[in-house]
Amino acid sequence: MPELPEVETLRLQLNPILKGQVISKLEILNKKTFHGDPKLIINRKITGISRFAKVLVFETKDVAIAIHLKMSGRLIYRGKKQPKNLKIDDIELKKLPNSHTRVTFHFKSGDILYFTDQRKFGWIKLLDRVKREALKEKLGIEPFSKNFNVENLYKITSKINRPIKVVLMDQSLISGIGNIYANDGLFCAKIHPKTKAKDLDKKQIQKLHECLLMVLKNGIKYKGASENLFRDAFGQKGELQNYFYVYAREGKPCKVCRTPIVKFRLGGRGTFFCPKCQKSQ
Ligand SMILES: [Zn+2]
Repeated sequence: MPELPEVETLRLQLNPILKGQVISKLEILNKKTFHGDPKLIINRKITGISRFAKVLVFETKDVAIAIHLKMSGRLIYRGKKQPKNLKIDDIELKKLPNSHTRVTFHFKSGDILYFTDQRKFGWIKLLDRVKREALKEKLGIEPFSKNFNVENLYKITSKINRPIKVVLMDQSLISGIGNIYANDGLFCAKIHPKTKAKDLDKKQIQKLHECLLMVLKNGIKYKGASENLFRDAFGQKGELQNYFYVYAREGKPCKVCRTPIVKFRLGGRGTFFCPKCQKSQ
């Protein structure tokens, strides 16, 4: 599932291309993907693309187009500004639209943006200002906002008796961190994923805060993780999967001490850690 760095990758790529462009036509191929009256955005100019947590928001004068990729959503741009010599590994993306295309945005310039979604959990919602704020309020602290500081993180963790990894992935507490970045952030901070959040002292939370920002920034630097279905706005793979610390590395040697990485299930999710670097408390 795309997490904060994957969605931020799309924002960084699409914002310079689509900002100022006018939507001329919308094709809704799967009704359940699109919520709202499409007429509200026809002939509207995109004034910018923002992001909160894993939600990408195309701003227009009075309606925001909020997009959530969920499990398998992809946003693929085709037009004059796509890079030359595209590296497309997924044959489905060589021909667009394809059988997984759910919504197509056409722009006056002739540019096209395809929303494809194999598993159909993703959505596009048209939101007025009130609904936009309501959606934002449901989500926890955004890691790249100034509210995400050591004090606030400690305020959250010190009251919770659940494992720290489950807490990091709870979108109502902190938003945007999923399984990859929770696993690798905890490894960097040398914290066992099962440690009860309230048992972590301020010093450990300080380290964890630093590590979470580091792994998220690293994800953006490598244009996201494409070990699965995520592809960037041009349909190309991100590269973070080549640099995971512990995530998806079961049985492989720890990058610090060579001890084999262990996998177990926690809160229903595959959890990876180094038994030597991340001791239980
Ligand atoms: Zn280790």
